Amino acid sequence: MRYSKTITGLTGGGSDGWDIYRKARQMERDGTAVTMLTIGEHDIRTDAQIIDALHRFAHAGHTGYTTFDGEPELKERIAARLTDRTGVATTPENVLIVPGGQGGLYAAHHAVCDPGDTALYIDPYYTTYPGTIRTVGAIPRAIEARPRHGFQPQPEDIAKAVDEGGTVRSLLVNTPNNPTGVVYTRETLDGIAKVCADKGLWLLSDEVYDTQVWNGDHLSPRALPGMAERTLVIGSMSKSHAMTGSRVGWVVGTEEAIEHMANLATHTTYGISGYIQHAAAFALDLGTAFEAQIAEPFRRRRDLVMKQMEGQNAARPIPADGAMYVMVDIRSTGLSGEDFADRLLDRHHVAVMPGESFGHAAAGHVRVALTVADDLLEGAVAKLVALASELATETVEPAR
Ligand code: PMP
Repeated sequence: MRYSKTITGLTGGGSDGWDIYRKARQMERDGTAVTMLTIGEHDIRTDAQIIDALHRFAHAGHTGYTTFDGEPELKERIAARLTDRTGVATTPENVLIVPGGQGGLYAAHHAVCDPGDTALYIDPYYTTYPGTIRTVGAIPRAIEARPRHGFQPQPEDIAKAVDEGGTVRSLLVNTPNNPTGVVYTRETLDGIAKVCADKGLWLLSDEVYDTQVWNGDHLSPRALPGMAERTLVIGSMSKSHAMTGSRVGWVVGTEEAIEHMANLATHTTYGISGYIQHAAAFALDLGTAFEAQIAEPFRRRRDLVMKQMEGQNAARPIPADGAMYVMVDIRSTGLSGEDFADRLLDRHHVAVMPGESFGHAAAGHVRVALTVADDLLEGAVAKLVALASELATETVEPAR
C-alpha cells in the first residue's frame, strides 16, 4: 500500500540521532550498569500531591469529554501566570491547552504555515523540530547558532535566510535552550524581534524551560514591544512540574490565533483529559516555591559540573544559564561528538548525547543531561573528563 509523502518524509532520512541512546538501553538490558545522561527527564516522579489530585478529580467525575480548547480553570491560571511573569496582559482567550509542549509546537506551525512554506528554526535544536515542521507540509530550514557566538543566534543570519528566498513564515526559538543550556540575551532577543517585524515573520517561542533559569529572570520575547501580536508561546507542565507523562501544555497568542488553533484541536485531539487538566491547575496553585523545588537539583548539579570541569581544557563546558543540560566541547580530542560518546559508553558505561544529534552547529560537543543523583553524575563527569584528557592532542586547537 502507498503511504503519504508527508508521513514517509517526516524524519528527513538518515540517523535520527538516538543511536547512542538505543545502544545504551540495549547494554542495560544485557545486564551492564550504564549511567544515563541522555534524555531530559527528571530523576524524581510526579509529586504525590499531584497524583492525589489526579485521583481526586477523576473520582469527582472529570472523566468525560472536555471543552476542546481547554478547561477554563486551567486556562485562567496559565493566563495569570503569563501576565505575572511577562507583564503582558493575558486572558483565558489567549490560551489553548494542548497535549504537551510537543502538541503546542505542532499546533503553532499548523496555524502559521501552509504546505510548501519555509519555517526557520535554530540549530542546535530539540530533536523533534524539523519533523514537526514537516508534519504540516512546510519546509524546515536551520539557522546555525555557533559555538563562537556562545550558541546565541545572530539576527543577520536569520535575515539572510529570509532574503534567500522561499515563502518564509515563521521562526522557532527556544530559550532556555535544549540542548545547549544557553539562555538568549536581551540583545539576541531584541535582534530576533526586529528581524521578525522587518520580515513579517511569526515568532514561535518554545519556553518549556522557563522555570529553570540560573542567572537573572526568564525573558519571553512576547513581552518585547510589538511582539505580542506576532508571537506564539509554547509552554508545558512537563519540565516545570515534573509532569512529563501527563502531557499538558499550552499555546499562548492572540485571540484570533487561539480561535484557529481551537478548531485544529476539535479536529485532531478532541481535547485533553479533564482530570489531568484539573490536576495541572492544582499543581500551578502550588506556586513558585514548588517550581523552584523541582528546578533546584538541576541548578545544583549544573554548579557541580561546571566546578568539576575547572582547571582543564580537554572537555570545555559551555556556561549553562538554564535548562537541565550542560553542553561540553570535546573538539580538543579530534573526535566527533558521536565517536567520543561511543567511546565513553564502551569504555566507561556513561551515555551522553552527541552534539550531532541536535544538528550541525554542536558537532564536536556532547550534551550531559543533569538527570541522575549528584554522586553518580560526579563519577560520570570524572570519567568524561579523564577520557577527553587522555585523547586530547595538545597540537589540535578546536576550530572555532
Ligand atoms: N521543547 C523542548 C525544547 C523540549 O526539550 C521538550 C521535551 N524534551 C519539548 C519541547 C516537549 O516537551 P513536552 O511535550 O513534554 O512538553
